[in-house]
Amino acid sequence: MELGISGKRALVCGASKGLGRGCAEALAEAGVNLVINARTAETLEQTAAEIRAKYGVTVETVACDVTTSEGQKQVINAAQGVDILVTNAGGPPPGMWSDWNRDDFIKALDANMLTPVALMTALMPAMIEKGWGRVVNITSQSVKAPIPQLGLSNSARAGLTGFVAGTSRQVAPFGVTINNMLPGLHDTDRALSLDTGVSNAEGITVADARAKREATIPARRYGTTTEFGAMCAFLCSEKAGFIVGQNIMLDGGAANMTM
Ligand code: NAP
Repeated sequence: MELGISGKRALVCGASKGLGRGCAEALAEAGVNLVINARTAETLEQTAAEIRAKYGVTVETVACDVTTSEGQKQVINAAQGVDILVTNAGGPPPGMWSDWNRDDFIKALDANMLTPVALMTALMPAMIEKGWGRVVNITSQSVKAPIPQLGLSNSARAGLTGFVAGTSRQVAPFGVTINNMLPGLHDTDRALSLDTGVSNAEGITVADARAKREATIPARRYGTTTEFGAMCAFLCSEKAGFIVGQNIMLDGGAANMTM
């Protein structure tokens, strides 16, 4: 399928590894030039070099913590005039409801709600002016099927979801779409660290911990970053202009629900 976005320019945050990298690669494969961000310069530069070599697109890098206001300034400066925005950053730590104080909530809200809001606020006006734009926020399956120990994530991402629900309807008349992608378990470093946590807690091997978690998914496996990126590129394509304000689950059927 021709996605119709060759020559456009995208900012992909949290893009040196994992789901963000999957999105960056799928956009690059569609001919989109990239600005990519992550905190660790070395991994980011390595990823940029690999994407340039494989897809022949331009890749600019911004090594910073996108959840800080200084980091956001750097990313927004580098990404002026982008046609496509993919927001992403690490998720907050797990715990019990009684573990967290106001500062923990403010940190989670900054990272997983207010950072995407700040990026959209800064970069959507140029999209609106051009009459074309695409925003995809990487959130989590926990938005629809909350995970008890991820209370900080459940809370912050619910806030972002509410913002997108209204805002997507306000920008759609100008050719700009905003949608959220909700990953279930995917084969990334984060999944490995969660498997390791289960392994330590239950005294089983990491492979057994993974097998145990895979058994809870109807597809009986973790998702791949390539599958995730393909959906992102489609949502950012010409073909997806009528998809507005949606929360798209990619979870192998793990959440047992109709919508
Ligand atoms: P990952 O493999 O750990 O990759 C995270 C990427 O984001 C890396 O490139 C990382 O590079 C970058 N990053 C992290 N924090 C950042 C920050 N503050 N500023 C800029 N870049 C940052 O994680 P992932 O599995 O792709 O997960 C991505 C998001 O999806 C997370 O919010 C996660 O909670 C959510 N999610 C993942 C899964 C899953 O199964 N993988 C499931 C549900 C939800 P640096 O460390 O160098 O910054």
